[in-house]
Amino acid sequence: MHYAIISDIHGNREALDACLSDARHQGVDAVLCLGDLIGYGPNPNEVADRVREEADIVIGGNHDAGAVLDLELFDFNPYARASLEWTRGVLTPANRRFLSELRVVAQLPDALLVHASPNMPREWRYMATVADVEENFMAFSEKVCFVGHTHFPLIMEKGYDGSFRFFQQDDLDLAEGARYMVNVGSVGQPRDGDARACYVVFDARVNRVTTRRVAYDFRETQEKMKHVRLPGYLVDRLEVGR
Ligand code: ZN
Repeated sequence: MHYAIISDIHGNREALDACLSDARHQGVDAVLCLGDLIGYGPNPNEVADRVREEADIVIGGNHDAGAVLDLELFDFNPYARASLEWTRGVLTPANRRFLSELRVVAQLPDALLVHASPNMPREWRYMATVADVEENFMAFSEKVCFVGHTHFPLIMEKGYDGSFRFFQQDDLDLAEGARYMVNVGSVGQPRDGDARACYVVFDARVNRVTTRRVAYDFRETQEKMKHVRLPGYLVDRLEVGR
């Protein structure tokens, strides 16, 4: 199978459309979504509708849970909280139901999908240190685990001898005997200094991972965010990818 793996779309319809049309040109057979469909961006319903239609597997992220579950939002920073409160007010009942029913882990043949971390998929942890990475490699047995959550694309390799390597290059052939965690980056709010939308193509037939960067019209997204009065900080960060 040949997969497009998208994550952290965050209500950014322009970025989602650009990535899905790029994925079609790549000839993928299936689209997998690692969560955070909504929050931050101005089009939560349009994004949820399109993902429901086009993705073969969808799992949930912390923003999806924050928008639909009866949670206090103090785990979120003030900008995220403001955008989630706005999102709660505009989600349609059908999308609220869809987001509230998402599972947090999914399995492919020899690959695992989670939003944040395989060791505690409901805790929405960040992998910040090599020790975190090491601990997470022990939490799954598949060859590769795809994650999102940090909005920072990164390929983490655990070699057959137990050594770790990290790659930010665009393409990687997965080595025999090694295992991987692949952060697919963010479609709708990249934070690695590149404003282009980001997702990953995984060709499971040849074990090759390709990070795709796709330019989109972020000015249009920004205009819509201003129109609905989402925080200026969230508007500004789209053009710098931070
Ligand atoms: Zn996110």
